[in-house]
Amino acid sequence: MTRVVAFAMVVVTALAHPAPALAYLKFGFRIGDRTVDVRWSMAPVPYFVNERDGPGVTSAEFRDAVAGAAVTWQAVAGTTIGFQYQGFTVAPPAGMDGRNTLGFLDRPDLDRVLGSTSLLLDAATGSLIEADVFFNTRFPWSAAPQGVPGRVDIASVVLHEFGHFLGLGHSAIGETERIATGGRRVLGSGAVMFPIALTPGSVSDRTLQADDTAAAMDLYAVEADRGETGSIRGRVVKHGRGVFGAHVVAFNPATGSLVGGFTLSADGQFVIAALVPGPYIIRVEPLDDADVESFLSGEVDVDFKVAYAPRMVVAPRGGSSGDVAITVEPK
Ligand SMILES: [Zn+2]
Repeated sequence: MTRVVAFAMVVVTALAHPAPALAYLKFGFRIGDRTVDVRWSMAPVPYFVNERDGPGVTSAEFRDAVAGAAVTWQAVAGTTIGFQYQGFTVAPPAGMDGRNTLGFLDRPDLDRVLGSTSLLLDAATGSLIEADVFFNTRFPWSAAPQGVPGRVDIASVVLHEFGHFLGLGHSAIGETERIATGGRRVLGSGAVMFPIALTPGSVSDRTLQADDTAAAMDLYAVEADRGETGSIRGRVVKHGRGVFGAHVVAFNPATGSLVGGFTLSADGQFVIAALVPGPYIIRVEPLDDADVESFLSGEVDVDFKVAYAPRMVVAPRGGSSGDVAITVEPK
């Protein structure tokens, strides 16, 4: 019998093990001395919808929002991602019962958590076995096509949580500012998988961005299509030593797209995979636009100034760039 491990998104950073390879953030799971991707090995993945209504959203509207988000992820070209709706259930969207369930749950104690995904995986392989996603009834929701001011767009948050359901962690492509009442307001975000939701009423996060699709490609690319993308790898150093937890962003001037990754080892190595081939501008910045714990556990270094690779770096089709060395200076 294979040992299994459960974890929930609210504590997921404790399990996002540093490994010298994985970009955006995928959930890595440590097996012995190697880290494997956490992903589904079956396709399509069956799911149920809890029959309960939420505040502002009927169960039928919720079911349709979930179906829409499933279609959006499935539409990422060149991937094996597939979901299959199984019907309504009375099963709660929590607890391990052999069903992947999405639904509303009363969690008044979690006053900043819109939704959360918990995952059960096979500790021998990293393969996902079960996922449950709840949406917090503490918040006012909306399923209106154009959104409703003051209400959180259910379709946007479902799309984000489905990213976790697939094994994706958070993206750091976004800018925030602190607000007087505590917490942060998003000034701009370049990924559905950014950990902080847009202002209630916004429906902008119904559309996946380049960083989201690169992450999906990296985990679920059809083998034949894997050779159609390229990667960029390198190392971030300060005072000659590796920087852990630096956010490294690849900007493609031809498409305007941003795809991010992180240095995930003590010697400061990063890899950003599943890039559209071509030249990129590489920027390194400290991980300071949300709580660091939203992304990684460990001693994340945020004491350095923004820096760029000295020249543009090419992600070659079907291959990887040479090692790109980027030196940062303390603030
Ligand atoms: Zn999240």
